Amino acid sequence: MKVLVATHPAFTAHATGLSHPERPARLTAARAGTADAPVDIVEFSPSEAELELLAGVHLVDYVQSIKRFCAAGGGQLDPDTVVGVDSWEAALRAAAAGPDAANLLERGVADVAFLPIRPPGHHALEDRAMGFCIFNNVAVTARFLAASGNRVAIVDWDVHHGNGTQEMFLMDPEVLYVSLHEFPAYPGSGWVDEIGLGPAAGTTVNFPMPVGTGGDVYRASFERVVLPILSAFKPDWLLVSAGYDAHDADPLAGLSLLESDYAAMGSALRGLVGPGKTILFLEGGYNLKAIQGCVAATLSGLAAVPVPDETSRPVSGSRSWRALEFVVEVQQRHWQVV
Ligand SMILES: [Zn+2]
Repeated sequence: MKVLVATHPAFTAHATGLSHPERPARLTAARAGTADAPVDIVEFSPSEAELELLAGVHLVDYVQSIKRFCAAGGGQLDPDTVVGVDSWEAALRAAAAGPDAANLLERGVADVAFLPIRPPGHHALEDRAMGFCIFNNVAVTARFLAASGNRVAIVDWDVHHGNGTQEMFLMDPEVLYVSLHEFPAYPGSGWVDEIGLGPAAGTTVNFPMPVGTGGDVYRASFERVVLPILSAFKPDWLLVSAGYDAHDADPLAGLSLLESDYAAMGSALRGLVGPGKTILFLEGGYNLKAIQGCVAATLSGLAAVPVPDETSRPVSGSRSWRALEFVVEVQQRHWQVV
């Protein structure tokens, strides 16, 4: 399997400060994970996003305010989100990485794209930076693809709910948003009754999972709900907000996934769309060893190379299984799930 991988020095030049968890070393770990995976790597350098591309999901005034803020030396955009002078270029290239990858995949250069980019994107709102995110990279790409008539499915397995992405497509029936996340947790949204509005009712699907949930419940969630909904939705493109902070070793969250669970999710997503129609975006993940192992496992799964289960695996409690039953019950109003 050929994997298109984004690379540019700007992504590591985005400086967040010495003690910030969203740090450049995360990309070194993610790149090491791509190198470890049993795949062929094709590298590309993303361009800088034009204003028109960003304006698909962001307010022009917001984009310009970020440009001015970075040029003036940067600082804190919110209590978690820090930018410096170099962050503007990083944010532009991170936002263009998805559309650029889509164009390259259309030309047949690879089977799948994996984008180890910073800053991440899924918390960014149309007019506000949030949770380490400046521009919503996955949402920019979904809008870009939907604008030419494509149906787009976004699967978000970052441990945090992608509130920005959900909000941007809450009323859009052509873009499906599915998120599995810890709940309650930052940013506070992503309850099971957030299902989309108006004609888009049913095209937002949330799995709010209690602390301690492990890969057994995630695998069952894919089998019983995520895959049947994706198959019924029939997307042309599949975008993945691939955060690695649901891993057991992550310092910022409390779920208990292991590497083989990411391989299982990667494998489950194989074949849902045609070849060259899947793009994965790095979102969170703050344990470097876990990032490296999970990126390699995800790509192994997508390449159909088996990753054996760990000998000792966390077992989810009854609260996690009940949370899944509740999701099934709510989703049965919109989809054929059992
Ligand atoms: Zn996260």
